[in-house]
Amino acid sequence: MKQLFYTFGLLFFIACSSSKKTSKKALTKDFASKFAASITAKKLKEHVYIFASDAFEGRNTGEPGQKKAVKYLKDFYVNNNIASAFGTDNYYQKVPAKFLNKNSRRGKLKDSENVLGFIKGTEKPDEIVVISAHLDHEGVKNGQVYNGADDDASGSMAILEIAAAFKKAEKAGKGPKRSILFLHVTGEEKGLLGSKYYTENPIFPLANTVCNLNIDMIGRVDDLHKADSNYVYLIGSDRLSTQLHQVSDSINAKYTQINLDYRFNDINDPNRFYYRSDHYNFAKHNIPVIFYFNGTHEDYHKPTDTPDKIEYDLLAKRTRLIFHTAWGIANRKQRLVVDKVGIE
Ligand SMILES: [Zn+2]
Repeated sequence: MKQLFYTFGLLFFIACSSSKKTSKKALTKDFASKFAASITAKKLKEHVYIFASDAFEGRNTGEPGQKKAVKYLKDFYVNNNIASAFGTDNYYQKVPAKFLNKNSRRGKLKDSENVLGFIKGTEKPDEIVVISAHLDHEGVKNGQVYNGADDDASGSMAILEIAAAFKKAEKAGKGPKRSILFLHVTGEEKGLLGSKYYTENPIFPLANTVCNLNIDMIGRVDDLHKADSNYVYLIGSDRLSTQLHQVSDSINAKYTQINLDYRFNDINDPNRFYYRSDHYNFAKHNIPVIFYFNGTHEDYHKPTDTPDKIEYDLLAKRTRLIFHTAWGIANRKQRLVVDKVGIE
């Protein structure tokens, strides 16, 4: 009896200490999920309905609707106490008309702006993870507003909620080890011009830029996935860094379980999406990228790309995937290794 009691006591002790261990581990693991949970369909919906409203006139580069868009982004960062990347109260990187017109044949463009929010890393502040999306769209043509709800209000608003989640983490003493740059670029529809300007005039050296997660259209479902909408296309993840692909894949398996569809990552794919959004301006400088994309659909680049057609629960889930991925990259011990240099 005594012996049994002793064994029981020992077992009880082991059970307690091991459950303590588990809960401690679970707690560490759960920080990311806790902050990811602050990203909701409801908040994203409120944002998209404003950012893609007629009042923003299709956010045409250099035009009054685009100025409203940059103000909306800036006001969000100011209201959430998220710093500017310039360390001042200015959040805009001016993209001069001269630069835009030199690189575009799409009409006479006026001065425009990128918008840059920033959260400074706690341990490796000089290493930068860039999360980007384009803020511009097609404007008004023949009296019709091109709202660009999916393209790319979805990505722009995803960044705001990712930034807010990182800010919550920072306030709770769990800020990212590396810095995060929230980069909203202009002139994408005119030829990836805002991202071209940023990468030619970076605020932080490109040599210190760890990776670029670029979001362009993540609120809709394409024809190939009508039966199961739990998907997103990932393009580029394995092209420069084997580790980036592995990290992205394992984080999704652990936290979000979205079907990551790599068909457009095929280097022979005729759509050539790898070259068609802002991440390419980072990739060509050998900075590893992931492009998050839902594919095209019947409203792509039409005035019918409106907020009522966005699937907000899916938008929130994909946004949480990108938050978790950024979190993992920013907090991992070693910087991602670039092991596959060379542009295809
Ligand atoms: Zn786009």
